[in-house]
Amino acid sequence: MTYKTRGTIALQLGTVFIVIFVLLGHFTTSFLYESYLKRFKVDFFNLVSNYASNINGKLLSAHRTLISVAEVLPGQSLSDSAILQEWLDDRRGLLSTFDNGLFIFDAQGSLIVESPFKPKRRGRDYSFRQYYQETVQSGKPIISDPYASSQKDNHPSIMMTVPIFNEENDLIALFCGSLDLLDNNFLGDLPKQKLGRDGYFFLASMDREIIAHPDVTRIMKKDFPVGVNPLFDLAMKGIDSCDENVNSKGLQAVSAFKKLSIKDWVLGANYPLDEIQEPLIDSRRLIWLFMGGAFCIVLLFTLYALRAIFNPLFSFTHHLETLASKTGEDRFFTYRGRDELSIMTKTFNSMIKNLDETHHGLNHAQKMAHLGSWRWNLKNNELEWSDEVFRMMGDLPNSYRPTLEYFIDKIPPEDRDEVNEAIQVSMDQLRPYEVEHRIIDSQGQLKYVREQGEVCTDEDGNLVGMVGTVLDITTMVLLQQKLERLATTDELTGAVNRRQLFIYTDQFCQLAKRYKKALSVIFYDLDHFKAVNDTYGHAAGDEVLRQITTRIQSMLRDTDILARYGGEEFCILVPETDGDHAYLFAERIRQRISESSVNLSSGESLQVTVSMGVATYQEDEQGSSLIDRADQGVYEAKRRGRNCVVKM
Ligand code: GH3
Ligand code: MG
Ligand code: MG
Repeated sequence: MTYKTRGTIALQLGTVFIVIFVLLGHFTTSFLYESYLKRFKVDFFNLVSNYASNINGKLLSAHRTLISVAEVLPGQSLSDSAILQEWLDDRRGLLSTFDNGLFIFDAQGSLIVESPFKPKRRGRDYSFRQYYQETVQSGKPIISDPYASSQKDNHPSIMMTVPIFNEENDLIALFCGSLDLLDNNFLGDLPKQKLGRDGYFFLASMDREIIAHPDVTRIMKKDFPVGVNPLFDLAMKGIDSCDENVNSKGLQAVSAFKKLSIKDWVLGANYPLDEIQEPLIDSRRLIWLFMGGAFCIVLLFTLYALRAIFNPLFSFTHHLETLASKTGEDRFFTYRGRDELSIMTKTFNSMIKNLDETHHGLNHAQKMAHLGSWRWNLKNNELEWSDEVFRMMGDLPNSYRPTLEYFIDKIPPEDRDEVNEAIQVSMDQLRPYEVEHRIIDSQGQLKYVREQGEVCTDEDGNLVGMVGTVLDITTMVLLQQKLERLATTDELTGAVNRRQLFIYTDQFCQLAKRYKKALSVIFYDLDHFKAVNDTYGHAAGDEVLRQITTRIQSMLRDTDILARYGGEEFCILVPETDGDHAYLFAERIRQRISESSVNLSSGESLQVTVSMGVATYQEDEQGSSLIDRADQGVYEAKRRGRNCVVKM
């Protein structure tokens, strides 16, 4: 797992913790809200119940006051409106409660007097009013349902009545007080009471008619359709309640309903739900804000910390990744911190130093051993050479990028096929190879090398490259060639030596026998050579031997072989030549030698002659016998006076 991934995981873990905190905050506030709502409902219902009992009390007290005042009404003066008016006007205490006026009706419902006095209203018939009919019917004081008043812009009003009886218990009059539902009395003030910001009270009768409501246009209307406001429907059945609810206008609220005891009226109150939820929303917003802020701070801090922690590591990783393209001092990593990374970089730097030393040592060893190494990457066809391979190619180390083509080009054309084939077979059969070949280096020098290579494969056994060594074996090959030459040739004259002469003679004899071909041997010995040594010195004698050999060599065919038998005695093997032709050839040589002179490096010149014997191969003859017979010829030539040829 990379450090980048670890950092990301740490960041993600941090995020998970924050999410957990957010959820915790969410559930805590939700739980608190539920408890708060439960508590609120209890308190709200208590409040509405208190209001209901308050209205009850005020209705009762107003009605009782009216009833008690009715007891002192001067019943005998019913026909005298002036006295009645005066009496009524004196009831100032009552007028402060019944702001819509005090009335006295006769038994038929006609207005006798009212206070405050209004002209042209006496005698009006109000027997159609529900409050008149109900009072007459029951013979008891009643509180009416709302009705549109005949005065003051037909304000909705309610009427409290007290029936007045004479001693015979006949109804003689109705004493009434009216409350304007829009005025400032305990009923008119009810909808003006504030519940929170937008909450409100209202009063409705059990037959769904609104008595008091902040929206005055709804008073005396029955606009609570059944099934729309569930709690209101329950209240209409006389069931008090308090719960979350949707009112007829679609407002989500906590609603409470409490039935009045004095009248079939229900006090209702709505407290908008969103207002109740405001503290929750505020606290949630605060939590989100806090969490968001905390998240940002944690994120920034984590990023900063991760950067501070991992940046040196990343730059070290980058250094390692790009190490291959770096050279010299650039390969060392500078880090001044005092932590684990400093140990790593110190170790790394000392490893580079060790590597340099090892590389240097290896280079030195390769140079001393003339052994170069190489590596060939097949993927990108990149060839790497050690310094020694460059040197073998006659080039400065790392002065160019080597390629296989460049290397093959350095091999002389006649060796190339063998090298190419060795490499190809090795790659095909995944086996090591070894091949010796020549190269002509950039300075034009011919070198001999032994090349060894081995294939490199991946885990699946596929060929991915090769590695190998190139050993400069020039010195060894040249030495070997020299040794071979020394083993078969005479050092002084360059002619084939005696040992090799016998080998060749035997081989030539066998060939002559098998193919029935002629074969002759010419043996010659320099005349009076001792005297040459004695006269000119041994070195001059050597010079004479060399010059004579070169001269005779120049007269031979490619197939003829000139060998030094020993001292100043030589043999010439002349294959496919019979005795006569060999004799003629020998004679030609003898003449050439005797006619020319040898010029010494000292400036002196001298004449030499040779005595020659010629022998021709006879069936089943051994090589040594053939040579012996030619030697006999030399003896005979000496005997005959030297500088002549004797054919045996
Ligand atoms: P002839 O053969 O005509 O009878 O006389 P000769 O003087 O050549 O007599 P002989 O064959 O006995 O002597 C050979 C001499 O050749 C002896 C030796 O000093 C000389 N000799 C042999 N090998 C070498 C050599 O490698 N270098 C020199 N300078 N002299 C050699
Ligand atoms: Mg001799
Ligand atoms: Mg001699």
